[in-house]
Amino acid sequence: MFAPAVAFVDLETTGTSARDDRITEVGIVRVENETDVTEWATLVNPGCSIPAGVQALTGITNAMVADAPTFAQIAGDVAAQVGGCVFVAHNARFDYGFLKHEFGRLGRSFTAKVLCTVKLSRRLYPDSGRHHLDAVIERHSLAASDRHRALGDARILWQFVQTLYRDKPASDVDTAVARVLKTPSLPPQLASDVLDSIPECPGVYRFYGLNALPLYVGKSIDLRSRIAAHFCADYRSPNDLRLSAEITRIEFEETAGELGALLRESQLVKALLPAYNQRLRRRAEMVVLAVGDEPTVPDYVRSEAIDPRALEGLYGPFASRPAAREVLRTLASEARLCWTTLGLERRVGPCFARQLRRCAGACVGAESPAAHHARLLEALAPYALRRWPYPGTIGLRETSLTGERIDFHVFRDWCWLGTAREEGELYAILETPPRCSFDLDIYRLLVKRLSRLPVTPLPPSPDR
Ligand SMILES: [Zn+2]
Repeated sequence: MFAPAVAFVDLETTGTSARDDRITEVGIVRVENETDVTEWATLVNPGCSIPAGVQALTGITNAMVADAPTFAQIAGDVAAQVGGCVFVAHNARFDYGFLKHEFGRLGRSFTAKVLCTVKLSRRLYPDSGRHHLDAVIERHSLAASDRHRALGDARILWQFVQTLYRDKPASDVDTAVARVLKTPSLPPQLASDVLDSIPECPGVYRFYGLNALPLYVGKSIDLRSRIAAHFCADYRSPNDLRLSAEITRIEFEETAGELGALLRESQLVKALLPAYNQRLRRRAEMVVLAVGDEPTVPDYVRSEAIDPRALEGLYGPFASRPAAREVLRTLASEARLCWTTLGLERRVGPCFARQLRRCAGACVGAESPAAHHARLLEALAPYALRRWPYPGTIGLRETSLTGERIDFHVFRDWCWLGTAREEGELYAILETPPRCSFDLDIYRLLVKRLSRLPVTPLPPSPDR
């Protein structure tokens, strides 16, 4: 088989959300050296009521789990059963995600190499449209007893994999497994176990070549799989191929969540300008459109010229000046605005859009400048930059999945003042007069996420 130790895992749960629902049963078939098979299963008291529909589907009732152990009581056994194994499950993200969350609630981390049998089935039987467990059972005439119970379904997966090795050349199955596992082929100059030391948590990473400056800075909510993806045959971009040739070491920093990783990535890329971060480096070219109350040609303004306390009349942000012009052109054609009046074209007399009958006629006096301007403001309204919605400085608390790490991001007027992990750091940030340099990239990150994290108002920082 494809690994010396494999754990076929199935869970029953109270619902489909790993965050909100809980495990009611765990079934594991552990196979070592192809023939040494151990089965392990237990009901789990979820600490909440099982919805009636779910009870009907699985046959696991509230009464059955009332005296069962809690997940905390079996966590050690589960970890021992799947330890050192490739974790195999049908729609594995579901089972793996539930276990990760249950371990997370206990403040423990849980990681495994995961193989999804839906993906494996899809790869080996690409012409079959259906790959859910009943379809797989039917296609391969698998013996299914105790369907919808954890151990019953785990046994089916073990049968399925045995069937694959019987029906197909072993090399075909192994290749498909490697593809599904996305086994990275690490560049030879990196240690073969380099990925083992990288956690499956959010953070930023840096790839170094021979110089002190990084070649590339990246971020992810799962550092290990993101870094591995740079070295996976299926996914490699030309950029990744060149990086693979040059990389000599990897460094990483953990963060509590996605926002922290995004902020740190943005900061590192701006400060270090890594050679392979072309896309991110271009964020420095972000602009907004400045449109005053009086009819004038819209102006293009970069981050450094923006006063974060005076955002009225600014629209965007746009990735670059050409991107802003493109949006303006689209709005013009939707609202029959005038190309010369918007500065999209220099011409005397009817503008290009007017010649196509797509301009209401500001260029030929058919519409007054004031009326045209009012319509421009209306068309731009959805892009208006938002005023800072708080009286002053705030902290956004971001907590890691395990609850072990809390990052406290401090902002004022859309400017990121710093991130604190403990009280002392927070005071240091608050006592430093803020360098409130407005950054459209940070604005864009924050405006999308402001409502998702708990906000704490903070005392005002001393003014500049
Ligand atoms: Zn016109």
